[in-house]
Amino acid sequence: DKGLEKSSQSIFSKISKAIVGKSKVDDEVLDDLEEILITSDVGVDTTVKIIERIEERVARDKYASVSELDKILREEIASLLSENNTEDLEDFVVPELKTPYVILVVGVNGVGKTTTIGKLAAQYTKRGKKVLLGAADTFRAAAVDQLILWGERVGVPVVSHGMNTDPASVAFDAAKQGVETGADVVIIDTAGRLHNKVNLMNELSKIKRVVQKFIPEAPHDVLLVLDGSTGQNAAIQAREFTKATDVSAMAITKLDGTAKGGVVIGISDEFKIPVKYIGVGEQVDDLQVFNKMEFVDSLFN
Ligand code: GDP
Repeated sequence: DKGLEKSSQSIFSKISKAIVGKSKVDDEVLDDLEEILITSDVGVDTTVKIIERIEERVARDKYASVSELDKILREEIASLLSENNTEDLEDFVVPELKTPYVILVVGVNGVGKTTTIGKLAAQYTKRGKKVLLGAADTFRAAAVDQLILWGERVGVPVVSHGMNTDPASVAFDAAKQGVETGADVVIIDTAGRLHNKVNLMNELSKIKRVVQKFIPEAPHDVLLVLDGSTGQNAAIQAREFTKATDVSAMAITKLDGTAKGGVVIGISDEFKIPVKYIGVGEQVDDLQVFNKMEFVDSLFN
């Protein structure tokens, strides 16, 4: 698949360059590897962790050859990802519940929140689920309009009160309508203003409270959308949002056409929150459920 190939080749090709003329994994190779991982946006702490693990392995096996470096690195990354993403999603499925499954979607503007919601709605609809969207990102007219457009494109209803209305009131109506119409999934878009964390926290808790009036267990997922092409900015946003609310899953977008796929590794390691989806393009089908091994392979193929 298009996106992942591109994001990936870089780690592999950088390693290939770094080991030219070398036979053993020595300090110089490890230094180069460290730099490669950091410039691939794996994040400093996670890079150090990976390098230490490789150092231990190399120390055990004094003759570790550079030809094995790929394999060793692949194994270490895979094991890091498995420690943090307990299970891979098989497909776009939501649990069968008596009430709608509610997904609250958070993230700053421009990361691909609306697009990801549209893509998810399309996948669930394709699998026979009844989907309802709530346009509670009422801060920007464009966000509401775009969600309505996605609703039309995918053929799902959108609850909207327009711009500058109370987000909680939209969420209230979306939950209410979701229950009344027997929706399987209600996906609620929210405004992602990070400059005022207290506001953000209050707004999100208010949204949760009103949704819980109809669906006590909601939200079943709080999905944080991050733009993978922004590298360490994505990690900074993840830090802020996980402080403001209980993020339960992540979607990392724009992994097409970027050499920054490494950010997925660092974020997964730092937050221990499963990366459920990756965005690999602007079209409706350009969303994939995250699969560890496929992802790791894509970094090296
Ligand atoms: P929002 O402000 O977070 O709701 O962001 P949007 O959903 O409006 O997306 C912002 C821009 O990013 C749009 O031009 C989208 O088409 C684009 N976009 C979203 N996801 C992806 C992706 O996975 N890959 C690429 N290349 N573009 C994306």
